[in-house]
Amino acid sequence: MQDSCIFCKIINKTIPSSIIKENEDVIVIKDLYPKAPVHYLIIPKKHFSDIKDLEDSEINLAGKLLLMAKELSHDLSGSRAFRLVSNNGKESGQCVFHFHIHFLSGKQLLDF
Ligand code: AMP
Ligand code: ZN
Repeated sequence: MQDSCIFCKIINKTIPSSIIKENEDVIVIKDLYPKAPVHYLIIPKKHFSDIKDLEDSEINLAGKLLLMAKELSHDLSGSRAFRLVSNNGKESGQCVFHFHIHFLSGKQLLDF
């Protein structure tokens, strides 16, 4: 938990969010400014700034984030296509410095 971190506050329910799924290690919320019809954020409950901050010992947690993406895909329609994006560092576009993975779906996502 980092006092100034907006995602830590969401995880601790001190600020509201639209929660899609939650378990012991991971929370999934709707992105406040969606870039696709389905735009979720998969967020570990433990605070890391970004992937560079992840210890080797967190291999289990890293796997759980991907398995959460698989779980979310079950509720998609059609071919259940989706894209995962993770910004790591200010120059990559990261603006919330609590590690998270964007889960995007619901439109053509061919442009990168
Ligand atoms: P990034 O640029 O990868 O750090 O992504 C941060 C994402 O968090 C952006 O897509 C924002 O729209 C989203 N965001 C910021 N504040 C909130 C919030 N309070 N609830 C939900 N999503 C948020
Ligand atoms: Zn945090």
